[in-house]
Amino acid sequence: MRAGYYTGNRTYEVKEIPDREPKKDEVKIEVAWCGVCGTDIHKFEGKNGASLVIPPIILGHECSGIVTAVGPDVKYFKPGDRVAADPSYGCGKCIYCQQGLPNFCLERHGVAKGFADYVYPPEQNVYKVSKQLDLKAAAFAEPLSCVVHGLDLIQIKSGSTVALYGMGSIGSLMLQMVKMTGAATIIVIEKEKEKQELALKLGADYAVDDAEIIELAKDYNIDYVIECIGLKVTMEQAIQIAGKQAKVLLFGLGDPKQPILINQFEAYTKELSIYTSYLNPHTTKRAVALLESGNIDTEAIISACLELEEMGEELETKRKTRSGKVMVRLSGKH
Ligand SMILES: [Zn+2]
Ligand SMILES: [Zn+2]
Repeated sequence: MRAGYYTGNRTYEVKEIPDREPKKDEVKIEVAWCGVCGTDIHKFEGKNGASLVIPPIILGHECSGIVTAVGPDVKYFKPGDRVAADPSYGCGKCIYCQQGLPNFCLERHGVAKGFADYVYPPEQNVYKVSKQLDLKAAAFAEPLSCVVHGLDLIQIKSGSTVALYGMGSIGSLMLQMVKMTGAATIIVIEKEKEKQELALKLGADYAVDDAEIIELAKDYNIDYVIECIGLKVTMEQAIQIAGKQAKVLLFGLGDPKQPILINQFEAYTKELSIYTSYLNPHTTKRAVALLESGNIDTEAIISACLELEEMGEELETKRKTRSGKVMVRLSGKH
């Protein structure tokens, strides 16, 4: 089978490696599609994603596909099932798993590296998807499950004013989810005109840049600010525009070498709550249900569908990544 590796030092290589039969509770999935995540780009650039990166590693973790074989201990899946995989393994035994926090599992590792023709996640990480859901859309289960967790944390009240930074693929999913919470006013902060248009199309009331937001923020008590970029400047501004008793969710993956500055006096006078969100504990099932509901437009977010062999150039140039979500076609089945 083919597998797309990050081999270190900004190099990407598609290698031929043997595929194998699934062991124990493993489900062998013929990957149909795999989304490219910001963390894949981070890894290629030599930074860590959500955890430490030691090359060579197979990239990708947002995959969907069709089951081709199951290990002897598998109970609930059979060949032919259409599925999405949660890449994040929780052992179920460590102190964090025992508290229902598999995102902090001491044994956590990637179990569905989707830049490959086959993946072998354990059964507990596999989720069935209905025939109505296209497998390309099903590959959004992982990023959407992360968004669902973030929104679980801040619990948006209906009728609120929400400001959202960034119309990358995560911001675009977040916007659609925020719309469904019953937010009364949604303001998207995004500097690129094309992405501003996408924001308006996906339900934002305003799409402004980071200069215009300063003026606009004066007309509202912004109840929630969700930052989906991860830059120091936008994270700091997110805290600045937050209203009284606001909740600020720093969702974007920040640079560990660029800590942000918080004026604690300003935060105090506004009684701010600042949240961060790490991965997707127990939210994949709901993410799949949301995708199946048809209420999440994934096609509007996709900028390109590329072959595994084309990903080296894309990781290097980010040509298509800049304008939206890049999907890697493995079997390409629907
Ligand atoms: Zn991801
Ligand atoms: Zn654990």
